Amino acid sequence: MGLKIIALPAGRVRGVPGSGVTFQRNADKTFDLAMMMFAITGGEHTVMVDTGTSDPDFVREQHGYTRFERAEAEEPLRVLADAGIDPAEVGTVIYTHLHWDHCSNPELFPNARFIVQKDELAFAMDPVPIFRKAFQRTATAQPPILSVLGQVETIQGRKVIAPGITAVPLPGHTPGSQGVLVETDAGKFLLAGDCIDRYENWEGDGATQSHLPSGSFINLIDYYESFEVIEQLGAEVIPGHDPRVLERRVFG
Ligand SMILES: [Zn+2]
Repeated sequence: MGLKIIALPAGRVRGVPGSGVTFQRNADKTFDLAMMMFAITGGEHTVMVDTGTSDPDFVREQHGYTRFERAEAEEPLRVLADAGIDPAEVGTVIYTHLHWDHCSNPELFPNARFIVQKDELAFAMDPVPIFRKAFQRTATAQPPILSVLGQVETIQGRKVIAPGITAVPLPGHTPGSQGVLVETDAGKFLLAGDCIDRYENWEGDGATQSHLPSGSFINLIDYYESFEVIEQLGAEVIPGHDPRVLERRVFG
């Protein structure tokens, strides 16, 4: 059996200002963003890419996301059970980056190693002030990854994590953002993390911009180099926050 990617829901925020999703574009629009985590099945062990969001009350209080919604049916343990995934059998978690909406709940995976780019882990410990909430490094909360620090393995650069699963650095949104390239029987797919928020980011503006960065970034020069890296992969891009990804659900 070949590898398959399953997109799993972790909540949503509706009506996000367009220029927050596509930098300097769509200021007159709003977009809905889905929070997600992904399971890669069909290998020796299940691999997770990102681990979702925390409790909605915590999110509203700590992050000020007053419009964040996560239904009871979207609690991570239920979502995993519904997909037939036993968290105890997850051997590897790969973090695209350490923003709170991608890396909450690590303690649900007691037997996993947690793979993150070294630059990302370092930055998450002491982000510039404007990004402290995004990394949940505040006076009243701490980065979720700290609860599993003994299971963390840092990597630097591109690395094969398991047969058919490769971590590919895509810095720009954050210093150590990375994508996960997955080779399936139906072709290659790239879990792009927040380098590509929605399909609109990858499709560009139809005029002068082939691709559009997110409105949230640390380095635009790195970001555009990451777009070039993605082009060269020849893989189908799976955005990190597009609700259409959940509609399709299975890739590969
Ligand atoms: Zn992010």
